[in-house]
Amino acid sequence: MKKSVSLIPAFLFMLCISLPGQKPGQCGTLLQSPFDFDIKAFDAFKKRRAAQRTNNVLRLGITAHVVQEVAGASNIDIEDLYRELDQVNDIFLSTGIQFFFCGSPRNLLGGRSMYTYAQAATELNDRHHVPNTINIFYLDEIGDAELSIAACGISTFPFASSESNRFIIMQKNCSTNGSTLAHEIGHFFGLLHTHETFRGIELVDGSNCDSAGDLICDTPADPNLAFTGVVGCNYQGNFADPSGNLYRPDPSNIMSYAPSTCRKKFTPGQIDLMHFWYEMELNYLIEDCDFFPDFSIKTDQTSFTINTGQTLQLPFEFSNSGIQQEYNLDLHFQLLAENENITFTIQKEELQILPGQEDFTIDFAVPFPLSRGTGRYKLTAVLDPESSILERDKRNNIQILEVIVDNSQLQDQVLFPNPVQDQLKVFLRDQRSSGNVFVEVADLYGRTYSSFKTFKSNEEFIVEVDVSSLEYGTYVLTLLFERNDDKKSFLFHKW
Ligand SMILES: [Zn+2]
Repeated sequence: MKKSVSLIPAFLFMLCISLPGQKPGQCGTLLQSPFDFDIKAFDAFKKRRAAQRTNNVLRLGITAHVVQEVAGASNIDIEDLYRELDQVNDIFLSTGIQFFFCGSPRNLLGGRSMYTYAQAATELNDRHHVPNTINIFYLDEIGDAELSIAACGISTFPFASSESNRFIIMQKNCSTNGSTLAHEIGHFFGLLHTHETFRGIELVDGSNCDSAGDLICDTPADPNLAFTGVVGCNYQGNFADPSGNLYRPDPSNIMSYAPSTCRKKFTPGQIDLMHFWYEMELNYLIEDCDFFPDFSIKTDQTSFTINTGQTLQLPFEFSNSGIQQEYNLDLHFQLLAENENITFTIQKEELQILPGQEDFTIDFAVPFPLSRGTGRYKLTAVLDPESSILERDKRNNIQILEVIVDNSQLQDQVLFPNPVQDQLKVFLRDQRSSGNVFVEVADLYGRTYSSFKTFKSNEEFIVEVDVSSLEYGTYVLTLLFERNDDKKSFLFHKW
């Protein structure tokens, strides 16, 4: 009986070979050549580290490159990248290593949507590598169209690379799944898969745990959880190792191939190994990127209730640290209606920021679009919306406001202000009339001063007419609805 069970993993390893050890959607980091691993040096390092255990936390810089096939808006949310970095830091909390983006994520025009690791090395890392940081390239797809192998992420190992050719590629779809990025960073720090077999199959009884498998003794032997055996996040397989002992792998280990949602932790042995490789190969990584500037925007009042057509008066506080040169900074106001998913930029401003200008306040007048009637809106003020300036942090570049348009106080048809000096507005609320509307301004003798065509599509309709050039006097504004010949006229006084 035992013998027949032990045949199953042999079959599995054949599968591994035909699929290079992975299935689509998994990590594609594979050991490809033997490497020197000095067990004695690692043992000595562990003893030394145990003796001098400190609470010092290493903080290491990551350069995030978001690679786009074509120009245009990024197809991954920068906020999501920061959220995943927080998640990585949660997972790494017990390791004494934390990460930060050394400068905000950069946008890179890549020209292709799919990269193999070799293509990423020459087309991306060779050209855009930022020294002394962990370079991560976020790609639409990783793989090779001909072999149709799609990987979630691939990293270099510290023992098989040198400073300038170390990097990680992440498929965008996997890069916010809660554990793949932490897994790839684990490889970057020298960790092998818990099911690694390059140096031999690790036995369940632990007898070869420091020379086979992942070289770590507190990670149980693992038959490769990508293929089967995990139900929910529990291993329920009955595979046996070459000695016939049943596996008891740990699907919560970050370096396993368990589903991404199951993977949560590193073992003390893995933490030691990461620090070992840090000391051996990675201690050039930068620990502070405060040389980048940081712009931020905020306001105290974040909720407004207005009528259609009203102008919002918005005082914003700007805080700018580390400014060594003059910057022209774009500020866009973007509007999104509740229940809609298209954001419109309704106003663009440019700020000139000089060194020494740390904090200041500017009042902006933002006319709310006339076409927007009763409803709730999200108005977002975004500094540097194109991400053209490298900063310490982009998250403080955004201030979100809630705007409630409430026209219930307006009569069903009203013209205001009256008397008027410059801009005259007409508000209508009815379901009956729609379609083309001709707007005409005439005097009491019937002489026309202006006329134009507009469109009424909603129950609420508001139109603005520039009357600044009219002489003092009394005039008539007429709306003519083309569809039903309906006509509405209003008297107003110009002063
Ligand atoms: Zn991996």
